Amino acid sequence: MENKTEEQQLKSNFIREIIDADLAAGKNNGRVHTRFPPEPNGYLHIGHAKSICLNSGIARDYKGKFNLRFDDTNPSKEEQEYVDSIIEDVKWLGGDFEDRLFYASDYFAAMHAWAVELIKKGKAYVCDLSPEEVRSYRGAPAESGKDSPTRNRTVEENLDLFARMTKGEFPDGSRTLRAKIDMAHPNLNMRDPVMYRILHASHHRQGDKWFVYPMYDWAHGLEDSTEGITHSICTLEFEDHRPLYDWFLDQLGIYHPRQIEFARLNLGNTVLSKRKLLELVKNSHVDGWDDPRMPTISGIRRRGYTAASIHAFCEEIGVSKFNSIIDIWVLENAVRNELNKTAPRAMAVLRPLKVVLTNYPEDKTEEMEAVNNPEDPSTGTRKVPFCRELYIERDDFMEVPPKKFFRMTPGQEVRLRYAYIIKCEKAVHDAAGNITEVHCSYDPATRGGTTQDGRKIKGTIHWVSARHAFSARVHLYDALFTKRDPEDVEEGRDYKENINPSSLEIFDASLEPGLKNAAAGSRFQFERLGYFFADPKDSRPGTPVFNRTVTLRDSWAKMEKKP
Ligand code: ATP
Ligand code: MG
Repeated sequence: MENKTEEQQLKSNFIREIIDADLAAGKNNGRVHTRFPPEPNGYLHIGHAKSICLNSGIARDYKGKFNLRFDDTNPSKEEQEYVDSIIEDVKWLGGDFEDRLFYASDYFAAMHAWAVELIKKGKAYVCDLSPEEVRSYRGAPAESGKDSPTRNRTVEENLDLFARMTKGEFPDGSRTLRAKIDMAHPNLNMRDPVMYRILHASHHRQGDKWFVYPMYDWAHGLEDSTEGITHSICTLEFEDHRPLYDWFLDQLGIYHPRQIEFARLNLGNTVLSKRKLLELVKNSHVDGWDDPRMPTISGIRRRGYTAASIHAFCEEIGVSKFNSIIDIWVLENAVRNELNKTAPRAMAVLRPLKVVLTNYPEDKTEEMEAVNNPEDPSTGTRKVPFCRELYIERDDFMEVPPKKFFRMTPGQEVRLRYAYIIKCEKAVHDAAGNITEVHCSYDPATRGGTTQDGRKIKGTIHWVSARHAFSARVHLYDALFTKRDPEDVEEGRDYKENINPSSLEIFDASLEPGLKNAAAGSRFQFERLGYFFADPKDSRPGTPVFNRTVTLRDSWAKMEKKP
C-alpha cells in the first residue's frame, strides 16, 4: 500500500491537479482527451518523448483518449519519411492512439470555411503588405504597431480577394489573410496575426489542391477544438499565444479546449531542436537520424535504450513551469537501473593483450561455469571455454604499476573471473620495445577463482580464450557535444564548434564464443565494460555488431561541468 502511495505521489504533477479539478467541477462530462501534435519536419527527439509520455500517460490513467495528430500545415519542410518515423516512435513508446491518427491537413477545408466566416464577421482582412512589411508594421513590445493600409477593406472585397488567393491567382508572398484584432495590443501575437499565406507548393497529402496554407497559430487551436481535445498540453513558449487561440475560438463560437503549458525538456551536452538535428545529419556530423549518438528516439533506441527506461526517465524528471537543463546521467541512470536487472552478462575484450599460461597444458580446454545474471539467479549459468592462451584488456596489465594497482603486473597474483588465480611472470617485448604478450602461471588449486588457503586476491579481471573467441565490431559513444549547453556561444560563433570530435570509438573486440549467436536487438552486460546492444541494422547472423548503451557506472563526474 505504501508503495502505491509513493507511485501516485511520483505521478502527481500540476497538470494532473488541473485535470482533477476539472473533473471534480464536472467539466467536459468527465472526459479526458489529450493529443501529441508533431509537425512532420524531422525525427522525434527525447523532448518529444517527454510530451508523448505525459499526454498518453494522462489518457491511460484517466481512462481517456489520446490522439496522434500531424500538424502538417507547412508543405515546404514536411516529408512522408518523417511521418513514418514518428508513427513508429510513438508506437514504440507505447503511445496508444488506437485508430485516432489524424492529419491537420484533413481539416484544411473546414479551416478555410472558418476563415471565410471571420471575413464575413469583419474579423479578418486581406493584407497587401510583403512579409517584411508585415513584420515592421507589427511594432515592438513597448511601441504600438501600424495598421495595414488595406485593413479597412469591405467584406465583399476581402471575400473576393481571399477567393482569388485560394484559386492561385497571386504570387507567393504578395498577400495574406490577417485577423483584425488590435495593432496596439500589448501582446504582439494579437497584432493582426497572419492566418493564411500564399504558397504554390505541393502538400504531402493534399497534392496541388491548395495555394493558401494556414499559419500555425490559426490552425492549432482549431485542430484541438475539432478533435474535442479537453486538455491541450504544450510547452511554455505557447503561453503568449493562448489569448490568440482563445480569440479565434471565441469569434467562431466553437468548442474550447483548455491549454496547459509546461517547461520543455533540455538535455545536457546535446541539442534538442529539429532544425539543428537536421543540420547534424545533413552535414554528416552523425550517420543519419538514428545514429546512436543522436538524442532522437530512433537514435536512443538503436543505442539500446528501452521504452520502459525512457518512461522511467520521464517520471523521474517530472513536469514543471521552469526551464532547466537535465544532465545526461539522469537519462543514463534510468537505462542502467533497468539493464542491471535484465541484461545477461558476458565477457568481451576491447583492446586485447595476449596472455600465455606457461604451466597450462598446450592442448587442454576447460569449460568454466559463469553466472548469467547475479541479479536474477533464475537465468542460471553458462559454460565459457578456457585454454592456455587468453586475451585480457591491455589496460589491465602494467609493467611498472602505480601504487594500489591490483590488476596484472609482474610478480602479482590476479583472479581471472570464473576461472583461476594466475601470477604474472614477465612481459615479452618486440624489437621496438612494445609488449606483445604476457607470460603467467596458473594455480590449479583455484579453479572457479577461489583460493583454498584463504589468501586474499584483490584484483579480478575479465578475459576470453584466444583460441575460442571471435572478433566483432563494437562501438563506444561519448557525448555529441563537449559543452553542457552547446547553444551557449558567443555572438557570431556557432553551436557546432562545440561538437565533440571523439564521440565515437570503433573496436574490433574479442568476444566469448557464445555471443556469436547474439540476436540483433539483444542486450548484454559485458563485464566491467558496460551494457551493449546488438545493432538491429548492422548485425548479421553470426556477425553481431555491438553498440554500448551505457557504461556500468556514472562516468560523468569526469565530463566537463564548466559552463
Ligand atoms: P523543435 O523545436 O525541435 O522543432 P517543435 O516544438 O517545433 O520542436 P513539434 O513537432 O511542434 O516540434 O512538437 C510536437 C510537440 O512536442 C509539441 O506539443 C511540443 O510542445 C512538444 N515538444 C517539442 N519539443 C519538446 C521538448 N524539448 N520537451 C517537451 N516537449 C516538447
Ligand atoms: Mg513546434
